[in-house]
Amino acid sequence: MMIAQMRDEKSWIITIDGPAGVGKSTAARGLARRLGAVFLDTGAMYRAVTLAAVERGLDPAETDAVAALMDACVFEFRSEGDAMRVFVDGADRTAAIRDPAITEQVKHIAGAPALRARLVAMQRAFAGGCEAVVTEGRDQGTVAFADAPVKFFLTADPVERARRRHNELVAAGKDIALETILTQQQHRDAADEGRTVGPLKPAADAIVLDATHLTAEQVIDRMEILVRERLRATE
Ligand code: C5P
Repeated sequence: MMIAQMRDEKSWIITIDGPAGVGKSTAARGLARRLGAVFLDTGAMYRAVTLAAVERGLDPAETDAVAALMDACVFEFRSEGDAMRVFVDGADRTAAIRDPAITEQVKHIAGAPALRARLVAMQRAFAGGCEAVVTEGRDQGTVAFADAPVKFFLTADPVERARRRHNELVAAGKDIALETILTQQQHRDAADEGRTVGPLKPAADAIVLDATHLTAEQVIDRMEILVRERLRATE
């Protein structure tokens, strides 16, 4: 089904794609707040499916078993203020999906075309129930919402991305080397860029923003100006 058919004329969706650690969630959350839209974190959907598979003793690389699991489990994504809470079979798993062991396994789900198709359907179903959405991920502007009126692709220098992530983890009391984060980040980026279905890449009509020398607020400011201009022009 074309997404345009599911949405009425006044509804709109803004997509933000980009590599790991570039600040997509912060930007999408902040932009959604300013525009009165709902924030959709699609990485959380991939993480929720991974968590459900791992906890039920499935091998996340077994696509058919994971597909059956997706039919059997109830996944709920609730927008609460500018956050998104994740429930699997009624239990709140918002924190659990961020476990590094889950992050490590998501690649199996993200790399399986049949599972991606289900995840994209899940994303469209979520957006179909909202008037205005700011969504973030890897394939939002290229696949999930290819007809979005404004698409952003956020980039930043890899070392700067790793450094920001390192600062966050150190502030949270974690003892991890910057080099370890950089290596993990390189592996995730390579897997996201290298897959055949829904690879990480800017849509042809995406606005590319380099966040290397910008604060989160500055990124959101720029996005807000561009979105308001674009939406006004299409009114
Ligand atoms: O954004 P986040 O780091 O939470 O995403 C977790 C993983 O899910 C990513 O590393 C990526 O492989 C996958 N993902 C994806 N497509 C999306 C969102 C996330 O493949 N739209």
